[in-house]
Amino acid sequence: MENSELSFTLAYTVFAICLIFTPNEFRAAGLTIQNVFSPWLGSEDIGFIEHHLRRTSLTILIHSALPLGYYLGMCVADPEENLINIHQVSGSWRVFFFLSVSLQLASWVLVIYCSGHVAANINREFRRIDKVVTGVPGAQVIVTDSWILKVTTYHIYMALQSDCHVTVTESRQHQLSPDSPSPIQILTLRVESINPAVRPFSISLNSTDYTDFREKFQAPIRTSPNVVVHQTVSELFLETFRAQVELNQRYTLPSGQEVEPCFGCMQVPSSTKLLRLCQTAGIENESECQQCFCRPMWCLLCLGRWFASHQDQQRLDTWLSSKVPCPTCRAKFCILDVCLIR
Ligand SMILES: [Zn+2]
Ligand SMILES: [Zn+2]
Ligand SMILES: [Zn+2]
Repeated sequence: MENSELSFTLAYTVFAICLIFTPNEFRAAGLTIQNVFSPWLGSEDIGFIEHHLRRTSLTILIHSALPLGYYLGMCVADPEENLINIHQVSGSWRVFFFLSVSLQLASWVLVIYCSGHVAANINREFRRIDKVVTGVPGAQVIVTDSWILKVTTYHIYMALQSDCHVTVTESRQHQLSPDSPSPIQILTLRVESINPAVRPFSISLNSTDYTDFREKFQAPIRTSPNVVVHQTVSELFLETFRAQVELNQRYTLPSGQEVEPCFGCMQVPSSTKLLRLCQTAGIENESECQQCFCRPMWCLLCLGRWFASHQDQQRLDTWLSSKVPCPTCRAKFCILDVCLIR
């Protein structure tokens, strides 16, 4: 491959990847097909189905034009190959050209066929305010009074609520981290319709949106036995708290000392001891933490709840770094000072 050919191929590959897997930076700058062609796509609120039919059609047409675009670009990038003259080009280029054209034609057929179906009643419902819109970019979930829809790049999945069985099949926990200021739990729900023409599909939801979703959705939602849904930020935080404490040093109980039941719940033995460890860890030299001399009195869950209840609910980014008084003696401690009993 010559230099000009190679650099065009590289540049085109990057362009194609950015176009198909729109990076978050592009989304933030408004460089999405939906934004660039918004005047032609029309309003999503007024003509929901038209908007998304046009959007998916346009996306299919643009994406399927990429190979053809590469061929045409190559005609300019490498005039010596004389690709413009289709009768004289080498066999592999000719095959590529015909495949590209066929892909484009097939997309047109698909788009024309699909745009024949318009569901006016979804449009009407979509104009109402009390729909629930949730999900992640690229896989939005919309629940109206009688429909449940999932809108992706190439396809709209829809099912009538009254025909649906919905099951929570999986939950994934994302811990507190510098990139995500609050802990999140993503739930996967499987939507199955009793109508055989409707293919089952899965939707992803943030667990804090689950309550809204469940209220809008009239049928009962089943939960697989191994899935626990955390609906509040505090509940979600307990998972992060537990994971963080497990990293800390353990505390060995002095010989002869008995473990008492947890003071908070009286259900399980106490399992934590507060030791002023954050200073030795070298996080802050001037730590505000104080030594707690209490014997182990709390289980990890109760201490985590206590810790969460002392946090500013609006400032999730400070939760992991904040200091909280010991529930018994009020000596301040931080998350690094919580030790599990060995
Ligand atoms: Zn307890
Ligand atoms: Zn104490
Ligand atoms: Zn500390």
